[in-house]
Amino acid sequence: MPDRPRPETRCKCGHALQRFWRFCPACARPQTWRDVGHVTGAECPVCRWAVSPKSSYCPWCAADIYEEGVSSEKPLKEPKGFRKDARCDAGCGGGVQYPMPYCPWCGEDQSWDDRGQFEGVCPRCDRGVDDWMDTCPWCGKDATGRDLMAPAVREIRRLLRISGVADWGYRLLLRPGGSGVAPESPKIIEINRRHVLDGRRRDEVKWPMLVGLIAHELGHSFLFHHWRWTRTPRFRRVFGEVDKAYRVDEDTPVYFDRRRVAYAPLEHVSAYAATHPQEDFAETFRIYLTRRRRLRELFAELGRKRKAVRVFEKFLLLHDYVRMLRGWT
Ligand SMILES: [Zn+2]
Ligand SMILES: [Zn+2]
Ligand SMILES: [Zn+2]
Ligand SMILES: [Zn+2]
Ligand SMILES: [Zn+2]
Repeated sequence: MPDRPRPETRCKCGHALQRFWRFCPACARPQTWRDVGHVTGAECPVCRWAVSPKSSYCPWCAADIYEEGVSSEKPLKEPKGFRKDARCDAGCGGGVQYPMPYCPWCGEDQSWDDRGQFEGVCPRCDRGVDDWMDTCPWCGKDATGRDLMAPAVREIRRLLRISGVADWGYRLLLRPGGSGVAPESPKIIEINRRHVLDGRRRDEVKWPMLVGLIAHELGHSFLFHHWRWTRTPRFRRVFGEVDKAYRVDEDTPVYFDRRRVAYAPLEHVSAYAATHPQEDFAETFRIYLTRRRRLRELFAELGRKRKAVRVFEKFLLLHDYVRMLRGWT
C-alpha cells in the first residue's frame, strides 16, 4: 500500500483531487482521468480513462481492450505510465496500481484497504473517506451517511430551530464504532452506523432512540464548541467541574428515547447524567431539545417529580445561554 498520494489536480469546482478519484468529494462531479500528455499511450474506448495499450482489460471499468499484436500476451508488472503497488489479488502474476478496481491483465476485481489513510469510512462502500467529504470519491454516494438517517436529521434540525439553538456548524457522520464527539474536533459528531445499518436491514430503525442519541451528542459538541462558558461561575455552580476525570460506568443504563425526566437521581435528569458533568450537560441538552423548549411544561414535571432546584437551574442556564447567543437578551 503506497502512501496517500498528494492532490494532483483540481476539479472544475476548484477543489483539490487525488488522481483516480471517481467523483469530486466536494461537488460530486464524475471525473475522467484521461491520458493527458500521452504518458500511458492509450485511453479506454469505453470510459476514456488512461490505460496501457499493453493491458487486456481496462483497470477502471473492466472493458475488454485486448488487441492482437499490441496487448502483452503475459501479465506485466508496471507498463509505461503505471506503477506496481501490489500484485493482482487473483494471482495472475501481473502488477496493479492503487486504486485500480480491476486487474489490467486478467480483469479480476481488486480490493484496496486504504482506510488507514482516511479519517473514516463510507457507509455505503466501506472505502476510506474524510470527515469534510460530502460525496464518496469511490462510489459517488453521500459520504456522511446523513441520507441514511434522513428522518432523524430532519427531526433534529426541526428541534434545533424550534428551540432557537443557532447552528454552530456541527457535522453529523455515520461511522463504525461508538458514537461520540472528540474535543479536538468539536464540530464532528460521529454516530455509530450500527444503529442505522442494522436497523435498515431489518427494516426497523429505532428513530426516537436515534434522535435522542443525536441530541445527546449534539450536547457534547455544543459544549466543546462553547468551552469557555464552562469556566464561568454560574456554569460551575450548576454543572460542576467538566474537567473532572471520566470514570465510565458501563453499567449505567442509557435511555435516549425517553423524553421524560427520570424520578431518580434528584439532582440530575437521568441516571446517565449523574455519571459525569459532561454527560449531565449532554443529557440536559437532549431533554431541552426534545422537549422543544417548553420550559413551563418541563418545570411542572420537575416539580411533580420533586427534582432538586439545581435541575431547574441547569435548564435555565442553558435557556439563558441559547437566548444570549441569539442576541435575545
Ligand atoms: Zn468538484
Ligand atoms: Zn474503461
Ligand atoms: Zn490479474
Ligand atoms: Zn462510498
Ligand atoms: Zn455522552
